[in-house]
Amino acid sequence: MKDSFFSNTELIGLIGHPIKHSYSPFIQNYALQTKGVDCIYLAFDVVPENLKNSINSVLALGLRGLNVTLPYKESIIKFLDELSEEASIIGAVNTVVNDHGKLFGYNTDANGILESLLPFKDKIAGTKVAVIGAGGSARAVIYTLLRHFKPSELNIINRTQQKADTLMNDFSRKMRYDSFHTYELFPPDNVEVLKNSSLIINATTIGMFPDVEDAITDIEESFNEEQIVFDLIYNPTKTKFLQLAEEQGAKVLGGMKMLISQAAKSFSLWTDTEMPVAEITKKLEDYISKKSK
Ligand code: NAP
Repeated sequence: MKDSFFSNTELIGLIGHPIKHSYSPFIQNYALQTKGVDCIYLAFDVVPENLKNSINSVLALGLRGLNVTLPYKESIIKFLDELSEEASIIGAVNTVVNDHGKLFGYNTDANGILESLLPFKDKIAGTKVAVIGAGGSARAVIYTLLRHFKPSELNIINRTQQKADTLMNDFSRKMRYDSFHTYELFPPDNVEVLKNSSLIINATTIGMFPDVEDAITDIEESFNEEQIVFDLIYNPTKTKFLQLAEEQGAKVLGGMKMLISQAAKSFSLWTDTEMPVAEITKKLEDYISKKSK
């Protein structure tokens, strides 16, 4: 740990509610120390009625920036001066940069999703894909798929189908795409959609620690050897859903790379410095495996 702080040590905050399970303080403080940036990163549990006050504090106290997590990724937007093009289309911000009193909002989750999928671009581009979920991270997933992979068909499956419909209408308008279908998450009916998709992405919380025995589906026919199956969840590193897909021969990806990539992009926006990604990934995996025991 850094052994001394000075009057010019700067501060980056994380705001959300609840916040105590976040790995971002571990990742960002490790990167700040390793790169010798005189700055600390602290998590603040902000209740909804204090969101506006917390933004005023960023300006009054001169914080370098913020990470923003649930439930504020959308509601923070009205307090910001400018948004990146990505954040504006996605409709959610997870990173704020304070540039001499002007607040700029970014969505670096999209970068994490892109970096996770880019090695498989040839297999994914122009094919049928399925996204399970319709929350904030599903929005970043859909933006990234439409922007960089141009799927021939995009199927959104969600527990609340009406939310999937809202996403479909929103992205049809903003990104001029009309090959969407939406479905209610109901495994017996979803097999056909899943098995005909070259890429399946879980953007729900199903299977996340501590509920590690939960999975979106336990129907083996949903998967095949040609598929890529990506779960945004990073704890556990391989969810039950991914285990089942892997048993059927699919190529599986967990959320760890996305977690580190989005953090690295935020880190470079605040500090203009590259995060030591490989070193931090190793440290974080060790930390999570010890904590989960
Ligand atoms: P969110 O906005 O709260 O959305 C949650 C989604 O999960 C919704 O689609 C919701 O369906 C669905 N859901 C929740 N409980 C369910 C249940 N019991 N049965 C069926 N569906 C359920 O959350 P988010 O921010 O998008 O996060 C989603 C996941 O992505 C989380 O596991 C999070 O850890 C992960 N994530 C990972 C990274 C990373 O860096 N790897 C970054 C961001 C998020 P309804 O619409 O029906 O409520």
